[in-house]
Amino acid sequence: MKRGKVIVISGPSGVGKGTVCRELMKRYPDLAATTVSVTTRAPRPGEVEGVHYYYRTNEEFDKLLAEGKFLETVDKFTHRYGTLLSEVERVLSQGKNVILEIEMIGGANVKKAIPDAVLIYLLPPSLETLLERLNGRGSETEEQIKLRNSQVEKEFDQAEPYEYFVVNDDLSVAVENVKKIIDAESLKDDFRNVKKNYFGRN
Ligand code: ADP
Ligand code: 5GP
Repeated sequence: MKRGKVIVISGPSGVGKGTVCRELMKRYPDLAATTVSVTTRAPRPGEVEGVHYYYRTNEEFDKLLAEGKFLETVDKFTHRYGTLLSEVERVLSQGKNVILEIEMIGGANVKKAIPDAVLIYLLPPSLETLLERLNGRGSETEEQIKLRNSQVEKEFDQAEPYEYFVVNDDLSVAVENVKKIIDAESLKDDFRNVKKNYFGRN
């Protein structure tokens, strides 16, 4: 059986990453599954250990890092986040593709570590829509909107390693586009693999 791929999904906060991934897994339960990351931040109300994150102290995070347990880690907003190799392996061993819902520095590092990882950036139909989804219609001052927009634009400058840009306007269309990307990427193969598997030689 061919091993699944590592699929990174990034995008600005509120664009719909969680919604798109949940809907994708609901429609195609055998296609892909997400991983649970480690973080040093405290759980938000309603968040559950082992479901949303593994919540660890700085010292525990350091220990995991020293033991080489992470595929990638990042420091963000004074907190630390990391993808465990064991989580990636857990999903791959189920014969599924792995979805990492992580930010862009992590995405770029995953691509360095796993060159055939697939990097998808989710875009809102417009910056205004993004702000609406984040805050509810009309709740922002013009100044705040400008600031948020410039932050999203600045973050986007890091998107160079990303190869797919999916607009999350109609949810169903976005989900199906991510499905198409995963399907097409799963059909990719390496000449040497094919030769070995099909003709039995190097
Ligand atoms: P993220 O995980 O990127 O921070 P969420 O998945 O939490 O974003 O989505 C943010 C908000 O936008 C949620 O209220 C969600 O229901 C809404 N949303 C997501 N996708 C769409 C869409 N295609 N159309 C309209 N609303 C959406
Ligand atoms: P939050 O604290 O809101 O849950 O997440 C903050 C940011 O960290 C989000 O962009 C989220 O996607 C990202 N993130 C969550 N887990 C990981 C991880 O393991 N690695 C990286 N690089 N980013 C992560």
